[in-house]
Amino acid sequence: MKATIALLPGDGIGPEVCAEARKLLVAVATRFGHQFEISEGLIGGCAIDACGDPLPAETLARCREADGVLLGAVGGPRWSDPNAKVRPEQGLLRLRAALGVYANLRPVVPHPEVARQSPIKSKLLRNVDVLFVRELTGGSYFGAKRREGDAAIDECRYTVGEIERVTRQAARLARQRRGKLTHVDKANVLETSRLWRATVSRILRDEFPEVTLEHVLVDAMAMYLLTRPASFDVILTENLFGDILTDESAVLAGSMGLLPSASLGEDGRGLYEPIHGSAPDIAGRGIANPYATLLSVAMLLRHSLKLEAEARAIERAVRQALDDGVWTADLRRRGAVCTRDAGDAVLARLTATAEAAAA
Ligand code: NAD
Repeated sequence: MKATIALLPGDGIGPEVCAEARKLLVAVATRFGHQFEISEGLIGGCAIDACGDPLPAETLARCREADGVLLGAVGGPRWSDPNAKVRPEQGLLRLRAALGVYANLRPVVPHPEVARQSPIKSKLLRNVDVLFVRELTGGSYFGAKRREGDAAIDECRYTVGEIERVTRQAARLARQRRGKLTHVDKANVLETSRLWRATVSRILRDEFPEVTLEHVLVDAMAMYLLTRPASFDVILTENLFGDILTDESAVLAGSMGLLPSASLGEDGRGLYEPIHGSAPDIAGRGIANPYATLLSVAMLLRHSLKLEAEARAIERAVRQALDDGVWTADLRRRGAVCTRDAGDAVLARLTATAEAAAA
């Protein structure tokens, strides 16, 4: 197939991990007979430096034309003044809004060997395979913000339509998986949560009767994620709760460097990025873990290009590299490999997998 992919490396370790993603895309195209046109654009701090805008019009146009967008990370101490008029993360928020990507998917599947590094007991991590679906373009992050006297106000607003569309995404995914949806809210206190609960219940009852639904309060969920993570399949929640719970779930995987994400809209196009930030403490040293970005490539191929076999081949190759002990410095102190070697290890295993599939 022919596809255009916008690649936005961004700041810090973004360019380092995206270089490995580019190599992987080229390898997938060669191995599986596709034509991927990769067009690079500026976003975040580097875009502020180049033209004063964290999301230049040219970058946005490239993303709109592309079949999928892959982003590294934005931000860093150089642009972190909270009073600055333009900030790197504004570029990312504007891009999400402009592309209309309202459903943020974050799979968490701890690798058995890496899971030993987690502060959570290994036996609790057995069979953990969770998919978070976080609403991404509503709630208090996007509501009106203002000061009144000595008070500060962040409005949290959700419409029925916003809840319905993300619920359908989550329920469809639950149906393709183990058929269970856990909806997380704070319906004992918040009016928006009561609307969420009523809407999610109606959609599931009317349109997805085969999916089992449970509602869990967010404070309890913060605990259950660490005490019984294997009991969840798809977890659906609003923007702020999702932001916090998905970062908490990174503990289950053993490192931020292993977790990919996809942000999807209505038309199948999406924005794909590792969940980690620009890691300024290790940027420029070539030691960042590229696996989260490579797994984000797999999600791009699956959700935007509908290339399921290719996506699975990448996931298998990353798993095999981890099985074989190809671990970066975030996972082990001694014998750690550099970013480039980790990327090459995945390419080598992808090659082997593709050849085995063709044989
Ligand atoms: P971070 O995710 O960048 O780093 C947290 C810790 O994890 C650091 O010790 C870092 O070295 C480590 N780490 C992260 N990714 C890693 C990888 N791939 N391999 C090895 N180690 C890795 O979070 P932070 O330090 O809170 O934020 C740094 C900057 O990134 C800030 O400017 C923040 O605003 C920005 N940020 C951007 C995004 C994004 O672009 N989506 C997300 C979060 C934070």
